[in-house]
Amino acid sequence: MEEKGSISIHTENIFPIIKKFLYSDHEIFLRELVSNAVDATQKIKRLAAIGEYKGDLGEPKVVVSVDKDAKTITIADNGIGMTAEEIKKYINQIAFSGAEEFVERYKEAGDRSQIIGQFGLGFYSAFMVADRVEIITKSYQEGAEAAHWSCDGSTEFAIKEARKEDRGTNVILNVAADSEEFLEPSRIKTILDKYCKFLPVPVEFEGEIINNPNPIWTKQPSELTDEDYKNFYKELYPFSEAPLFWIHLNVDYPFNLTGILYFPKIKNDFELQRNKIQLYSRQVFITDEVKDVVPEFLMLLHGVIDSPDIPLNVSRSFLQADSSVKKINTYITKKVADKLAEIFRKDRETFEKNWNDINVFVKYGMLSDDKFYEKAKDFVLLESIDNKYYTIEEYKALTQANQTDKNGNLVLLYTTDADKQHAFIEAAQSRSYDVLKLDSLIDSHFIGLLEQKLEKTTLKRVDSETIAKLIEKDETRESVLNDKEKESLKGIYETAIDNKNMTVEVAAMSPDDAPVVITLPEFMRRMKDMSKTGGGGMMFMGDMPDMYNVTVNANHTLNQRILNAKEDNKGRIARQAFDLALLSQNMLSGAALTSFVKRSFELIDKE
Ligand code: ADP
Repeated sequence: MEEKGSISIHTENIFPIIKKFLYSDHEIFLRELVSNAVDATQKIKRLAAIGEYKGDLGEPKVVVSVDKDAKTITIADNGIGMTAEEIKKYINQIAFSGAEEFVERYKEAGDRSQIIGQFGLGFYSAFMVADRVEIITKSYQEGAEAAHWSCDGSTEFAIKEARKEDRGTNVILNVAADSEEFLEPSRIKTILDKYCKFLPVPVEFEGEIINNPNPIWTKQPSELTDEDYKNFYKELYPFSEAPLFWIHLNVDYPFNLTGILYFPKIKNDFELQRNKIQLYSRQVFITDEVKDVVPEFLMLLHGVIDSPDIPLNVSRSFLQADSSVKKINTYITKKVADKLAEIFRKDRETFEKNWNDINVFVKYGMLSDDKFYEKAKDFVLLESIDNKYYTIEEYKALTQANQTDKNGNLVLLYTTDADKQHAFIEAAQSRSYDVLKLDSLIDSHFIGLLEQKLEKTTLKRVDSETIAKLIEKDETRESVLNDKEKESLKGIYETAIDNKNMTVEVAAMSPDDAPVVITLPEFMRRMKDMSKTGGGGMMFMGDMPDMYNVTVNANHTLNQRILNAKEDNKGRIARQAFDLALLSQNMLSGAALTSFVKRSFELIDKE
């Protein structure tokens, strides 16, 4: 006997809406149907466990098959099955009203792309690729009759008895003409690999099990070896180098979350973009757009996160406000900080060895999250130019005595380019100052953070001042030249340099210091750096030329010689001295370099 019926829902035309709106994401039908099949096999297992089902369980399995000639895709399971009554209840009502709800949400949502792929459409998604869907199913219940349901996605359906020996459900999709791409086995295989790779029940396609039903994130850390973690990483990202280390996430209160996050060894940026963190919900792949769920500074990590508590069916703005998402964020941040602290404590050598690879995560984290800063401040490392690593406290202790200025401020020196700033580094070292390497993009922000957090501490680039001013001590140096001589020396240099971006000053320095030093003031440089990275409303500064200070050493014999030289020679020697200062900082080029070389030849020729 065949029964025809009409499904009662409120939106008559959900089918065309879904088909049109979800065009780009049709492939998720397979995820939805295979997940349903997996659920059905898990349900029968549970019923058996509590004694509600006494029959033979068999090996739970889901089989996906494609029949190109018949133009069908079949998803078969040996799960709980359905009676005709249950089909009417679960499919006609629940599945259809779920789809209807989806359409309503979809119409309201601001950012639609967020909903697609994050909201399981459920059974109804079959109609995105099929123009007729059939269900042949037999319930686990004793004496149950098999049933055959058929529907073209409209509100009309037909249901009749069927012949089926074994318990379980076959969902048969009669693939629509515009979806025949899904009849290609390779296409199906790709989709299964993407969404079903870690489903908890074996999934068979073309005679092979395509999934790993027991991925290691579902196990206890105590059951696992380092090899297990490394192998799993290879399974996730076959083309990547082994990870540095990993964190096993495992919490069930106040939310449920498992997963493994890896600190990658990054070869190039390309890899960074490809190896994203994957988000799962009960082992079903959902997305690799984990923004909002994972703190932004940890998005550079790799691995998987699995949580049934992440609401997948809501829009982005809702997700940000969601309290369990916030808790998950906080939890992950804390776990990562704790893990780093543990490695630092237990194995500082390894920690230092990997510092180059992990310092960006740590600094970025400290900059973006105060809680993370509080934990990381004890293990963040400062690297000196002789490749030694110090914690902040250790470094303070090292430099305190010699690098505190006359006002009681600790001055930490750093270089962004040890080659270019070599002369200044040497000058600093001659005073037994230590110099840090802070040369990456994030370091310019990190420097600001340290100054903000550490009391009475400033950081200065080694070439921002002359050595005497870099760390001002309570010492005054007598000038060999009187004020009039100083004034005249200044005039000679100004004329010789002839550049309004160079401010000349004559100062009494040590006779052993260089005769001329060109410095780029710290404040100006930072403002310009900020404008380069687009921050702080400093855009206008990007166009401004660099303003340098030229300090002429009044106590250097060369400058005394200039004052005593023949009138028409003064400017030439001053220019030569200035050019040499430029040269020592790799700042001499073009016409200035050519005339410097010419002048130098003339000078040695004269000797
Ligand atoms: P959801 O899975 O979110 O409840 P679906 O639209 O995917 O929504 O499915 C509706 C209902 O149909 C399911 O809750 C389940 O009771 C039933 N169902 C779907 N597929 C199967 C299956 N393969 N075996 C048994 N029952 C199923």
